[in-house]
Amino acid sequence: MSSAVATRTLLACFLLVWTASSLACSGSGPVPLDASFADAPSDSPGSQNTRVLVFTRTLAYRHESIADGVALISRLAVANGWRLTRTEEPATFNDASLAEFDVTVWLSTTGDVLEEEQQAAFQRYVESGGGFVGVHAASDTEYDWPWYASLVGAQFSDHPAIQTATLNVEDATHPASAHLATTFSWEDEWYNFRENPRAHVDVLLSVDESSYAGGTMGDHPIAWTHSVGQGRAFYTALGHSADAYTDPTFVGHLEGAIGWARRAP
Ligand SMILES: [Zn+2]
Repeated sequence: MSSAVATRTLLACFLLVWTASSLACSGSGPVPLDASFADAPSDSPGSQNTRVLVFTRTLAYRHESIADGVALISRLAVANGWRLTRTEEPATFNDASLAEFDVTVWLSTTGDVLEEEQQAAFQRYVESGGGFVGVHAASDTEYDWPWYASLVGAQFSDHPAIQTATLNVEDATHPASAHLATTFSWEDEWYNFRENPRAHVDVLLSVDESSYAGGTMGDHPIAWTHSVGQGRAFYTALGHSADAYTDPTFVGHLEGAIGWARRAP
């Protein structure tokens, strides 16, 4: 273990103790709550050593699929040589701790999860080059924080029953969508948003509202990217159900998003 990895592991253990978790601080296997690092394979290409923070705090609805999402990102970390930390501790959102991460994933967070000082630290983090990946209920989070709404790109409004719909790939060159067919069917919980983000983002996927019941937006982006300061931001509304997190369609979508969002070296 390198000294840098050792330092970060010590930090992870510190966070673990700090949050009064009784889980062991392990370098392999499933990522426990609240923190653990997977050591990076030395021969991983591309995004090797990307440091990923997965934030899963929920103060409103809690998706059962969060556990499946953490398990998937843990597997992706091993495959790609990422170092992964999971937390539900809002105190992690301070300048010093956030500086340890290239990408922060908000995995189906809900409710008012950060205090004002923590929000300010996260804004500084992204605007200075930290990556953001929002998954599914990340748009059902922090309604009273306007900067976060602009970071995600849209706020959740409502959804019809889970059903299959047709998705259109609008950008086939992005790492989060390049593996997808031009159009494909997908079962999910189709979020309607309070506003259409298209004017402010680059749309990767949109859903055809004529292919299911309950869409209220007409033009209906479902996954997109944009820049916020020096940071890269990605959001996908997909990912309600546990099944998504083992399906190659969604696995490639999330893997591409995290690899893309990392802080520029
Ligand atoms: Zn959902």
